[in-house]
Amino acid sequence: MAAGFETHQVFNQSPPYRDVDLFGSDRALQDAVAANGAAGEAVALSAFGRHWGSAAMFEQARLANENPPVLRAFDASGDRRDTVEFHPAYHHFMAESVAAGLHASTWRADATRAAAPAEVARAARYVMVAQVENGHMCPITMTRAAVAAFAAEPALVGMLMPKLVSRQYDPMFRPWREKVGITLGMGMTEKQGGTDVRANTSRAERSGDAYRITGHKWFMSAPMCDAFLVLAQANDGLTCFFLPRFRPDGSVNAIRLQRLKDKLGNRSNASCEVEFDDAFALRVGDEGRGVRTILEMVQLTRLDCAISSAGMMRAAVAQALHHCRHRSVFGRRLADQPMMRAVLADMALEVEGALAATLRLCRSYDLAQASPAEAARARLLTPAIKYWVCKTAPALVYEAMECLGGNGYVEDGTLARLYREAPVNAIWEGSGNVMGLDVLRAFGREADAARVTLSELSQEAGDLAGAKDARADIERILADPEGEGAARRAVERLALLAAVAALKAGAPRQVAEAFARTRLAARHGATFGTATIDSSEVSMLLGRASADG
Ligand SMILES: Cc1cc2nc3c(=O)[nH]c(=O)nc-3n(C[C@H](O)[C@H](O)[C@H](O)COP(=O)(O)OP(=O)(O)OC[C@H]3O[C@@H](n4cnc5c(N)ncnc54)[C@H](O)[C@@H]3O)c2cc1C
Repeated sequence: MAAGFETHQVFNQSPPYRDVDLFGSDRALQDAVAANGAAGEAVALSAFGRHWGSAAMFEQARLANENPPVLRAFDASGDRRDTVEFHPAYHHFMAESVAAGLHASTWRADATRAAAPAEVARAARYVMVAQVENGHMCPITMTRAAVAAFAAEPALVGMLMPKLVSRQYDPMFRPWREKVGITLGMGMTEKQGGTDVRANTSRAERSGDAYRITGHKWFMSAPMCDAFLVLAQANDGLTCFFLPRFRPDGSVNAIRLQRLKDKLGNRSNASCEVEFDDAFALRVGDEGRGVRTILEMVQLTRLDCAISSAGMMRAAVAQALHHCRHRSVFGRRLADQPMMRAVLADMALEVEGALAATLRLCRSYDLAQASPAEAARARLLTPAIKYWVCKTAPALVYEAMECLGGNGYVEDGTLARLYREAPVNAIWEGSGNVMGLDVLRAFGREADAARVTLSELSQEAGDLAGAKDARADIERILADPEGEGAARRAVERLALLAAVAALKAGAPRQVAEAFARTRLAARHGATFGTATIDSSEVSMLLGRASADG
């Protein structure tokens, strides 16, 4: 028992949010899993949720983030070392996530897609991981996504996949061929442009069967990955390359880590500036097809951004609710005060929509190979849902933080860290406007397929408030050749319509109705707690979101 104080007693503080079943306490997640073909995973997901929600895992997350990685650019003699040292807690999370297959479970060993519900089952786990430690998710996401880029290269598939699907994390700095398991990163962004990667200036010279790359990247995360997919200019234009940390002869490749970014959040993970000085690389895809090749990977990293932000939102609401159930103000629990209940319920409703939309999107990935309609849905909705969920997360985490009052703002809890983490998913892997442009592109280039998706969403949303108007609104904006300036509104409406359709299919009718009424039919207020939600809906939403009964 903790020693007390002589001057006062400690009371009316909420107990730490620890030893939670992250699955069992989350009805929205359970419903979304069941609605998207993964009900058979429930028992395993519950075990996963209890493990990841344990006090020990939260403690490891604190350690990983309070002890950020350190660049070791040189050794004691002044020779280049170009390595990054991570705290053991970071490696702990890497080992846990790799053991759970989060880096590879959606792939078979031949780089074809694993059978449904592989995407939904992984996403459900990833939602829970995002509630505990976010930094290590970056290399896990990139590793699983990279397969999409090199899947069409049989030689690379044969070499890499046996190591990539391994459930053993191997942090040693040695050639990937000698390791039991590998991770992959990516380098696209240069100083002069991240969105406009065609402006990349890194050059690739052919050298026998391989290439030599010279140039730089301005952001390259998780630099201790075993290899990176990078873009560089070859003779026939921008091309994708496989750039390993070691050359085939076992010597360290010419990848010079310049410095680590001093980041707002995402602090357990390293993101570096890097130079390539005649670095050995293998081509992935044809010369001049670099953007097309790496886009296969980027689509999946965008999906993971939405999954992870939905998880962060859930974490924020669960912790706010937990605190408010234990904290009294003016002699009454915060969770019983009407205005606080309105805030909590409004946030819980937002999380319901985010989880439902995101897991339904994962279902589209599960079904895409056999169904062109689902492939088209994944194409159109990935940027829209990534946009909406990732942009909503910071505001929601902020409001949840305020529910804890001063305790929310200090680093003893986890909400301050979550708040610093929340914006990154919107910025990387295609920032807000870029997602808007991508939706416009889908409507422009694959207009028929996009319209079919829109029509399906509208039918699925059925008679729910605002669905018909939302469809008309989206079509009008996207059909307007001058509509680019209004694209954000259309993209947001599209994501909300997708959320309504997903809730109608998988959540109780009352949830779908409340979401549609407050988000599609009416414009939501600038802050949480402003939506018109009646007291029976409030009780229902808080019951579903309840973290500890
Ligand atoms: C923590 C962190 C880690 C990262 N890790 C990696 C990594 O591992 N590998 C990697 O390659 N990159 C990485 N990045 C880089 C990231 O992907 C880029 O920052 C991002 O793509 C944006 O590029 P930029 O910074 O050059 O901004 P810019 O391209 O200059 O864009 C600036 C703003 O303009 C907007 N914009 C761009 N074009 C238009 C347009 N036509 N119309 C309207 N608005 C527009 C964008 O939406 C954005 O808001 C990382 C970034 C961060 C913050």
